[in-house]
Amino acid sequence: MQVLKKKKINLKDLSPLRRKISGLNTVCTHARCPNISECFSKGHLTFMIAGSICTRNCLFCSVKTGDPDPLNSSEPLRVAKAAKRLKLKHAVLTSPTRDDIADGGAGHFTDTVRHLKNLNSRITVEVLIPDFKLDPGALKKVSLSGSEIVSHNMETVSRLYAIRPQASYERSISVLKKLREFNPALKTKSGFMLGLGETRQEVLRLMRDIFDTGCRMISIGQYLRPSKECVEVVKYVDENEFAEYKEEALNMGFRVVMSGAYVRSSYKSQEYLF
Ligand code: SF4
Repeated sequence: MQVLKKKKINLKDLSPLRRKISGLNTVCTHARCPNISECFSKGHLTFMIAGSICTRNCLFCSVKTGDPDPLNSSEPLRVAKAAKRLKLKHAVLTSPTRDDIADGGAGHFTDTVRHLKNLNSRITVEVLIPDFKLDPGALKKVSLSGSEIVSHNMETVSRLYAIRPQASYERSISVLKKLREFNPALKTKSGFMLGLGETRQEVLRLMRDIFDTGCRMISIGQYLRPSKECVEVVKYVDENEFAEYKEEALNMGFRVVMSGAYVRSSYKSQEYLF
């Protein structure tokens, strides 16, 4: 089986940016993103708010699982200040799943968007949210937060949802649908990985289900096993196949499609704005 080469990470290049975000988490480091050198060198990063510990344990994910600390109420403003120091024109926020909090952390997302926009009225924001257990109050909050894009990743096809033991395919599709019910003008986005054992038919079904929610932006990337505790890669998908899925998605009516081995949901996030 062909193995995808890991991208080289030059830690020296990352130090100046890491100093500017000191005390804050990024998903770039926690998820061991292969694009970290490229993105950090351009000042692109994804803030991981609401702690770095997840209450779930998806079998492909390197984010730590356990009992998270309570939310830090100073974090939204600190994120906004860091974004200002970095002169970010576009900020991406995500969080681990926080099933231990009543609103799943939705209020923390909206507070952070508010502070970002207060400190820089021209900044655009994408929030990449967990499923909030489909709580309508939480989904309404983020859909009306003022964030230009709200994303929720499907991650994989329906048949393989056993690798997301506390999630459900139908629930995640409903999240994408509900966001636009609360705010029909909202741009929603989703993403999924290839290489976990999915078939072409299943991928097409997944894309159709996402499209039918009103979502018009997707990212498609290769699953890369982040640690030995995670499920193995079943297949390294070649670039032609990524290109074919991109074409299928565009033909279906998606407006923006990023598809390629190293594509991750927040990769080149600002290019999704249309
Ligand atoms: S819910 Fe998200 S952060 Fe938590 S384990 Fe699953 S993929 Fe990772």
